[in-house]
Amino acid sequence: MNTCIFCKIVKGEANSWKIYENEDVYAFLDIHPAARYHTLVIPKKHYTNIFDIPEKELQAVIAAVKKVSKLYEEKLGIKNIQIISNSGAEAQQEVFHLHFHIVPRKRGDGQNLRWVTHSEWVNDFDNMIEKIQ
Ligand code: 5GP
Ligand code: ZN
Repeated sequence: MNTCIFCKIVKGEANSWKIYENEDVYAFLDIHPAARYHTLVIPKKHYTNIFDIPEKELQAVIAAVKKVSKLYEEKLGIKNIQIISNSGAEAQQEVFHLHFHIVPRKRGDGQNLRWVTHSEWVNDFDNMIEKIQ
């Protein structure tokens, strides 16, 4: 996909700050960081999101997420990390090349990811499970 910014980054046609790479995966700093070392981990091949990436390639990406997280723990003492991946525009995906965010967190960092929850939906759980049988 020649217009994809992350494909351009992989090919070296757009600038990036590399954290890690191997044959299948590339990790680099997010240009709009929510924290120091906010990192994106992507497959080198273009896949849109969780729905089209083959399992094997996803395994390579998540293994790299683990590697980068351990690197930050070992080198920087980072012990709190949020790992986030958005699939689909309505799930707040903005770049349509699969990626995992690694966001180091610490107390008082001013970030706050909170869902609006609906405990009453527990009443519907049996029906919900029925639908996917
Ligand atoms: P999404 O909302 O799709 O999960 O997140 C896309 C992320 O890609 C955003 O956090 C955004 O800052 C980052 N991003 C978009 N364009 C670029 C770019 O050209 N370079 C880098 N390093 N990050 C980018
Ligand atoms: Zn791409």
